[in-house]
Amino acid sequence: ALEIGHDLGASLTTAAVLERERRLVRELQQLDDHRSQVIATLSHELRTPLAVISGNLELLGDLDLAEASPYRAAMARGTARMQNVVEDLLLLTRVSDPRHPLVRVPVDVRAALEEVAALIRNTAQAKGLTLDLGVGAGRLVVPGDPHEIDRMLSNLASNAVKYTPAGGRVTMTAHRYGGEVRVQVCDTGIGIGEQDQAALFRAFFRTTNPEALRQPGTGLGLSIVAAVAERHGGEVAVSSVLGEGTTFTLTLPAT
Ligand code: ADP
Repeated sequence: ALEIGHDLGASLTTAAVLERERRLVRELQQLDDHRSQVIATLSHELRTPLAVISGNLELLGDLDLAEASPYRAAMARGTARMQNVVEDLLLLTRVSDPRHPLVRVPVDVRAALEEVAALIRNTAQAKGLTLDLGVGAGRLVVPGDPHEIDRMLSNLASNAVKYTPAGGRVTMTAHRYGGEVRVQVCDTGIGIGEQDQAALFRAFFRTTNPEALRQPGTGLGLSIVAAVAERHGGEVAVSSVLGEGTTFTLTLPAT
């Protein structure tokens, strides 16, 4: 009986080891798929503007200054897009590293939102979107890194503009609730399916919704938002209905 018991124990252990190995192989395969997908996304996001720059460079030829202007503008847009991707990559690495110290200076959320609104206003107007800013009275100051907070707000705002079709509305609000500042970025855009909402804040995540995939992107924006919010002792949440619109709510401890 002892021997049988021993054999049973041994075979159970073998089965458990096999199962663990299979799970590890599956996880490694998933990681490998993810790595390939990340490389494909990044390459595409860098190659597209690079093609715009080199194409326009060729067209410039012997044009005089006035004739060259639209080509130079296209090259500037391509350069800005590449700079954005590289900036996002560096920022995500920095804000995901707990050893990287957080700067804490008083940041005026009202001024930061106004700056973001000014930055996206042209793009919103060109797309036929209405852009509203509603900021409550009182002190809306949070202790934090001004650059990180700016980037977090501009990522949310530019997503709202990017994923809202012509004729829609983007509303940004900020209010003080007790010891917190709450910022909401609300749009009447394409929305996000329930199955995607849990994964949104993961680095490099892009939905499978073809309407969203028509827009350029790396899937870095919201992972930066989540990491910055967490570093500042706050959080970000999403509520969305596919085809109707999305609201991101950002809560940050106030000074
Ligand atoms: P990116 O926009 O570069 O793909 P993000 O991390 O900013 O990356 O967003 C991840 C995904 O979340 C996007 O690919 C898009 O599918 C979805 N998403 C983000 N913001 C919105 C929004 N306001 N409306 C609809 N979908 C959104």
